[in-house]
Amino acid sequence: MVHWDALVCIMKEMGIPNIFTNWVMNLVNSVCYVFKVNGRCMVRMQRAPEFHHHAKCKPLELTNLAFADDILLFCRGEAQSVQLLMNTFQSFSASTGLIFNPRKCKAFYGSVDDENRRLIQAITGFDEGKFPVRYLGVPLSSKKLSLNQYLPLVDKITSRIRHWSSKMLSYAGRVQLVRSVIGSITQYWMLNFPLPKSVLKQINTICRTFVWTGKSETSRKSLVAWHKVCSPRKQGGLGLLNLAIWNQVTLLKCLWNICNKSDSLWIRWIHKVYLKGKDVMEVEAGQSWTWIMKKVMNCKPLIASINLDWQRMLSISKFSMKTVYNRLIDGNSVCWHILLRRNIARPRARITLWMMCHGQLPTKERLYRFGMLDNKKCSLCDQVEETVDHLFFECPATKRIWNAILYWLNIHHCPLPWNLELNWILEKTKGKGWRAMLLKLALTETVHEIWLFRNDFIFNSDTHRNKIVEKIIDCIAYRGWVNRKLRLHVANLML
Ligand SMILES: [Zn+2]
Repeated sequence: MVHWDALVCIMKEMGIPNIFTNWVMNLVNSVCYVFKVNGRCMVRMQRAPEFHHHAKCKPLELTNLAFADDILLFCRGEAQSVQLLMNTFQSFSASTGLIFNPRKCKAFYGSVDDENRRLIQAITGFDEGKFPVRYLGVPLSSKKLSLNQYLPLVDKITSRIRHWSSKMLSYAGRVQLVRSVIGSITQYWMLNFPLPKSVLKQINTICRTFVWTGKSETSRKSLVAWHKVCSPRKQGGLGLLNLAIWNQVTLLKCLWNICNKSDSLWIRWIHKVYLKGKDVMEVEAGQSWTWIMKKVMNCKPLIASINLDWQRMLSISKFSMKTVYNRLIDGNSVCWHILLRRNIARPRARITLWMMCHGQLPTKERLYRFGMLDNKKCSLCDQVEETVDHLFFECPATKRIWNAILYWLNIHHCPLPWNLELNWILEKTKGKGWRAMLLKLALTETVHEIWLFRNDFIFNSDTHRNKIVEKIIDCIAYRGWVNRKLRLHVANLML
């Protein structure tokens, strides 16, 4: 990641005047800008009666675009205009020493007959290019992208997930990796164009399978539904971005930009070529409009769903994608979300608590219901059904553990089954104080260790029943010690 602020500091240190620094920063901060190749030459060329603009570039008198060290030149598909363009570029080359390499250049034609193509090829020496081409990592095309053209994106996600280092990750680590993969897609591909539903479905399947199985081969295994995983933490999710909704947010952002008539070139292009002075909110997309423009125009009904004053939004200088996203994903919040907020337990322990709050831990009673087990008796006491409510903390084996932890915390409370204990814990963990933080940490580590203890008991028959309380206390003490707010209180408990 580039920190452009550093560039400002360097230029200041070098004593470069502010006005020049601002020019440079304007260039590096804007993604798209017009690069005037020897400005006067271009103006002279445009005034020549033999030069004709490309039909859609005429309203803006656009002849060239540059990004980094690439340049795109536009004119009508005829020999005389191309010849003038090449002459102008050559005079630029003569004065600056910057020349192009014809072998690395391509000519792209739209409705140009063979005779003209041959003449243009002779003038420029450029081979014919065909759309789509990949530019800056994304496909550049004059038509709607086919599903195959999204394959590089899908392959990229799969290769990141298949990386050798991801094999050792826990649920929490896999969620974090998916978060970063989704983040990079949204920052790059989705800001360029909306992704089709089928591609989003494919990406969600890859991410879901990876989170729940650690593999990239498609599987239907899923402990918590993916749309829940991708909902905000307040609604019981893990805060992963819902790509379908983000798709809509990016379209609304485009619409906002068009309404705000920002000074960027592409907005001016849309106004000149498509809207022709009409209000974007009043017109319907025309048949000949590009597929992206049609998508942008079709997203107008979404404005009603976000329940925000569009006119007021237009008066604000920045479009907040996060605010709009939160409006679109609005749902019911769950009471237990506060247990996971400001929770400093180990990420893997937080995931166990999260699954338990969803009632999705694969207890024997659940597996029995799905026909995967014959016996639903608690693994630890072999007396009653192994449900979450029993396992945490009704079972004599686990009640003893939670009781010991509460005693160590100087909390006098007799553990109850989970459905009742949850109410007590929610009452005790209100607010931001250290007591709430410590209890959340203790609960999360206890639940996680009890779950591991139960799994060890079933699969390895190897348990250190007496050691579990010490292990949980060690975890709480370490996590508490590294937190400034809790350090002193944990130290007191250790005395
Ligand atoms: Zn039991």
